Order: sequence, then structure tokens, then C-alpha cells
Amino acid sequence: MTVGVLALQGDFREHSAILRRLGTDPLEVRLPAQLATITHLIIPGGESTTIGRLLALYGMLEPLRARAGRDLAVWGTCAGAILLARTILDQKQGGQPSVGSMDITVRRNAYGSQLASFELPLDAPAFGAGPLPGIFIRAPQIEAVGQGVEVLARLPNGAIVAARQGQLLATTFHPELTADARVHRYFLSL
Ligand code: GLN
Repeated sequence: MTVGVLALQGDFREHSAILRRLGTDPLEVRLPAQLATITHLIIPGGESTTIGRLLALYGMLEPLRARAGRDLAVWGTCAGAILLARTILDQKQGGQPSVGSMDITVRRNAYGSQLASFELPLDAPAFGAGPLPGIFIRAPQIEAVGQGVEVLARLPNGAIVAARQGQLLATTFHPELTADARVHRYFLSL
């Protein structure tokens, strides 16, 4: 197993730090050739339009689309979840490049400007017992999931905040900004 963290933009350093704490030696991925060497990839939070544009610019969109969920496990946090989604609502005008491999519909900036950022303990038994710290920063919302997609966590109002389709994992919150490594451990087990 070799774990990569997409290191084009966003909070990839925080993901790398947790992965190191779990005893892995993560590769910070910036070039298409590096993709060939990994079995797991985290797409971090940040700005989905920027990360998508850089993925296209560096020739990584096609290889990612070809492998994601097949022989590459991919976890997207926040902006990363947007990039994984098959359908993006409220896209940047003119559209935005994305990987689009996971059968979910995601709305960008779904909580509006007032509630753009908030913290909430999540009930998510899939990741183990006890509340999971949920940090939401200008978060998207998963508005619909396809048949092969398992919902792993919701907000008390029912909004989907974590989902899995085989080797693809999407969370709209940021486990990498907490001391709780349960979601990282879960991803490494995929
Ligand atoms: N709102 C950002 C976007 O659309 C995502 C925010 C985040 O990753 N924290 O890409």
C-alpha cells in the first residue's frame, strides 16, 4: 500500500501529518507519474475550482478518472468531495474541471455565507463508537447518492456529510483538522 496526498492546493500538509502519525509514509502527489505508484489518494480541502484547474493543467484528470474506484482508492474531503462527485450543483460559472467518478450529487457552498463554517459532533458509527468531530468550512452538501453508494454520516437535519462507493470515500467535513484519526484509518482499510 502506498498512500498519496494530492498536493496542488489546499490543506494537504494536515492530511500528511495524520498519515505519518498512523505509521505510513505519504507521498505528496504533484505529477502524473507519481499517480502510477500509489494505491490510495486523498484529495484535500481547499478550492475545488483551483484544484480542478491544476489537475487539468498537469495532465492528471484523465489518469485519475481511469483509476479512481478501480485500482485506486480515493478520499475527497470538502473540495475533494466536490471533485469526486459525478454532478456538481452551483458550479463556478462556465463549469469547473473535475474527476467525477463517484455517483453523488454535491452542492457547493451549500450552507450559505452566514453558516459557511461551523463545528458539530457527528454520529457516525461506521468510523467507530463515539462522536466524531465535524469541522465544516464553506462546506458542500451531498444532496443525492446513487444506488451503489452507502451513506456513512448525516447532520441532525438529515444532510449527508459522508458517503462511500466501494473504494471511493467523500466527506464534506475536515477530519484532517482534528486530532481524531478514525476516518484516515477507515480510508486506509479500503
Ligand atoms: N467551498 C470550497 C469549494 O467550493 C470548498 C471549501 C473547503 O474545501 N473547505 O471548493
